[in-house]
Amino acid sequence: MTRYVYDFDEHCEEGRALLGGKGAGLAEMTQLGLPVPRGFTITTEACRETMRLGSEPDGLPEEVEQHLHRLEEKTGKRFGDDRHPLLLSVRSGGPISMPGMMETVLNLGLNRELAEALAVTTGNPHFAFDAYRRLIQMYGEVVEGIDAHAFSEALEELKQTRNLERDSDLEWADLARLAWRFEDIFREHAGRPFPRDPRVQLAAAINAVFASWNAPRARVYRSEYHISEDLGTAVNVMEMVFGNHDARSATGVCFSRSPATGEPGLYGEFLVDAQGEDVVAGTRTPEPIANMQAVFPEAFAQLEDAVQTLERHYRDMQDIEFTIDHDELFMLQTRSGKRTAAAALACAVAFVDEGLIEPREAVRRIEPAALEQLLHPAIDPSQELQVIATGLAASPGAANGIVVFDADRAAERGKAGEDVILVRPETTADDIHGLIGARGVLTARGGMTSHAAVVARGMGKPCVAGCSALQVDLEAEVATIGETVLREGDVVTIDGTTGRVILGQVALIEPEPGPDFDRVLAWADENRRLHVLANADTPEDARRAVANGAQGIGLCRTEHMFMAEERLPIVREMILASTDEERNAALARLLPMQQGDFEGIFEAMPGLPVTIRLLDPPLHEFLPPLEEVTDPLVRERVLALQEANPMLGTRGCRLGLQWPEIYEMQIRAIARAARAVEERTGKTPLVEIMHPLVAFEEELTRLVEMTARTIAEEGGIAYRVGTMIELPRAALRADELAPHADFFSFGTNDLTQTTLGFSRDDAQGRFLTHYLEHGILATDPFATIDVNGVGELMHIAVERGRAANPELELGICGEHGGDPASIAFCHGLGLDYVSCSPFRVPIARLAAAQAALAHDVETAYVPAGG
Ligand code: ADP
Ligand code: MG
Ligand code: MG
Repeated sequence: MTRYVYDFDEHCEEGRALLGGKGAGLAEMTQLGLPVPRGFTITTEACRETMRLGSEPDGLPEEVEQHLHRLEEKTGKRFGDDRHPLLLSVRSGGPISMPGMMETVLNLGLNRELAEALAVTTGNPHFAFDAYRRLIQMYGEVVEGIDAHAFSEALEELKQTRNLERDSDLEWADLARLAWRFEDIFREHAGRPFPRDPRVQLAAAINAVFASWNAPRARVYRSEYHISEDLGTAVNVMEMVFGNHDARSATGVCFSRSPATGEPGLYGEFLVDAQGEDVVAGTRTPEPIANMQAVFPEAFAQLEDAVQTLERHYRDMQDIEFTIDHDELFMLQTRSGKRTAAAALACAVAFVDEGLIEPREAVRRIEPAALEQLLHPAIDPSQELQVIATGLAASPGAANGIVVFDADRAAERGKAGEDVILVRPETTADDIHGLIGARGVLTARGGMTSHAAVVARGMGKPCVAGCSALQVDLEAEVATIGETVLREGDVVTIDGTTGRVILGQVALIEPEPGPDFDRVLAWADENRRLHVLANADTPEDARRAVANGAQGIGLCRTEHMFMAEERLPIVREMILASTDEERNAALARLLPMQQGDFEGIFEAMPGLPVTIRLLDPPLHEFLPPLEEVTDPLVRERVLALQEANPMLGTRGCRLGLQWPEIYEMQIRAIARAARAVEERTGKTPLVEIMHPLVAFEEELTRLVEMTARTIAEEGGIAYRVGTMIELPRAALRADELAPHADFFSFGTNDLTQTTLGFSRDDAQGRFLTHYLEHGILATDPFATIDVNGVGELMHIAVERGRAANPELELGICGEHGGDPASIAFCHGLGLDYVSCSPFRVPIARLAAAQAALAHDVETAYVPAGG
């Protein structure tokens, strides 16, 4: 027969799953010898059975009765007895903590006669009637669903008549009167009197806790946090202890270390002559825990010991509830404490130093997303803020600056040394210089992977996107947010960590990752298999990447180099050339510039691989807008280059095959740069040349041949050559491509677009947002790899590619390379490296280690038909 009830001092094999978090904590504290009031836990299985059957399972009431009887024996008190009444607390607690469910009834087992008797036997009527009025209210709320206001209004009224501020200042006679009033309120709302029989109270409270599992707010919470619907909640029934006995009693909460900084030492509050939630309810101001030492010296010493014991036992920072009853300490709850990123790091490192956990466990415990908090400037929390709107927290960190609406002006004013916040309805590739010049970007439209968000994250700048309250009138150069009107030059602050937009200048705190950060990442490096490279296009980015621990450059895009102000005219000449001579003349001028770019990057990456991707975007991106062209010949050329779907048009290697002189120039520049750097520094750059958007074997063989020939013409250097895998055909035909390549790099941005048939720019803020809001898709495929679609193609490419070329190196260089869930997927896929924005390198290092340490990583997509 199934067993449904366990005393706190009994062993239960399945622990937390059956007893819930609170019950398991109470049992463990009891078994560690800590002072815990006695009691028992009714299992989550009893809850599940009750829900399934629609009524209590056979034997449950009898089992509860047996344990109640034992509790009476152990405590020497009796339930419903007028001389030595056993009073109980009935508390819910599931396997996964769900703050917001919180069903607790205290002082259960009292009624009017027993409260009067208790007043006499204890000689403390204040306490007795206080306990009784609390019971009626909590029972009324939990069992009958009566609104708390009904009770608190009556209490407030009474305090007002007596001109008192604090509940505890009420005379006992008033508390008694209040209790009788509560009985009436209960009857009015519940349509029946408050039950006198303690056993009726207990059964009803247990059932109400079970039923609370299915309350709408609990369901909402579970769906939000992806907690399974069928876990059920346990019910903890325990003897009451009374922090509201008298001035030698108190109740409190504390952490074993500071949840803000991780600094060791008790951190919390207590309140004399109080019960339960009084500490957090805000009706009276609690005292800092340090004051407890003077008031309750013995209990304080005991609490310090207990906290030590618990930290050693759980090997984690604890969040504790306790009560002091007549100078005697009781522990009422322990759980792992919620903490800031800084505290998480400090605790993890301290526990390693104290020998409580292994470095790899420290690595496991740090949430990669939490690291972000430590890498960017934040708003100093001690200030009053005038938050005028909230958008999407699209790229973390905070920035102050003047509002500028135009990308050119932003670039200009930024260059002049001003702090600029670029404010746009949305951004496009044409605004890139504005983004470069700005401290941060605020957009009215666009999602987490909109142009502004992606570019800002890549640059490590804050971005608030999709701020729907913001209206930008580009013509008039004003923006409005509700009542607030913003013009160029007005100062705002954006917080891309929370999505807040704040009026005016506020103080920021510079990030200080500190030594704990470095130690945890060093441990991460010892435990990961994936290499972490960076996407970097400039020497500055490359240096930042190395400083953040990157092991090379996985993607160096060359198009930004072509966009630079002084080069664009030459690039245009090259594209618009009507003869080969003209084109070659332009290319000859670009070559030394490219060579300089590559030298800078090679020098920033001594001894580390640099993967250079040859020109990728459609040529028209470099052309002047048609309206601006007056020369009829040039107009004709621009028109000729226009395409209906440029992203599926003449771009990537198609461009390199049609106009080989462009790629040849780039390859020459690479070869010359490599040699120049080698001569200068004595270190040979590790050159990798990458061809974009390959679909066919014939494309790749020609490109590889072109690469080899050009390098040979330049006198030869050591290099490797590879291709991006960003088209489904390339993934499927990986076996034909692999023999010609030293490496594959998954360009998952384009691979996602081409696999899903989603144009990212057209999806975001439009149908993709609709899909996400309406649950058609659970996650944004541009943020986290679509494992079952894109992932399957990657899987095929890995298998077929490796089979055809066992030496093939495999990596990913799309945005996904910095996303922890996608990194875990890449680890499982057996890739060799991930490459991401320099700012995300620390996060990727940690995520890669966690993937390696996870017992079972979700490696596998579900194969089609499988
Ligand atoms: P929550 O999950 O909301 O913290 P709890 O079940 O922990 O709810 O209990 C609410 C309050 O009641 C807490 O302050 C707790 O300390 C107090 N409490 C619970 N059980 C007892 C008890 N046996 N004696 C005294 N106070 C108790
Ligand atoms: Mg609690
Ligand atoms: Mg691409």
